[in-house]
Amino acid sequence: MSLAYVALGANLIEPVTQVRAALAALGEISETRVVSASSLYSTEAITADKQPDYVNAVAALETTLAPDALLTALFDIENRFGRQREYHHAPRTLDLDLLLYDEQIIDTPRLLV
Ligand code: ADP
Ligand code: MG
Repeated sequence: MSLAYVALGANLIEPVTQVRAALAALGEISETRVVSASSLYSTEAITADKQPDYVNAVAALETTLAPDALLTALFDIENRFGRQREYHHAPRTLDLDLLLYDEQIIDTPRLLV
């Protein structure tokens, strides 16, 4: 069993609703359980273009999925929430980033932790 931390962020289409629903979706990932979640934080976008504020949170997950499989599950949730990848740092309905996976250092083309 591994302990992973996932960052959630949204700044389009009722971001509070998106982040809350995303927390529930994390709990539906196979072999995975949400053990704790932070409060929701409102943060100003740091991007060059003007964007709505972000809603951010972090969740701790217990999982037996390997890091790469967990990332695939996160992408799957992003897609279900209508995520488009228009340009780097574009506003988004949902962003899920893997912050930590146990103590592992991971450096692959798809995943940097
Ligand atoms: P950002 O999160 O920086 O705004 P995206 O969500 O569009 O950007 O992700 C861009 C790419 O980052 C993805 O294609 C993904 O493969 C890669 N990536 C590398 N490391 C991670 C990670 N730890 N968590 C999530 N995505 C990652
Ligand atoms: Mg991301």
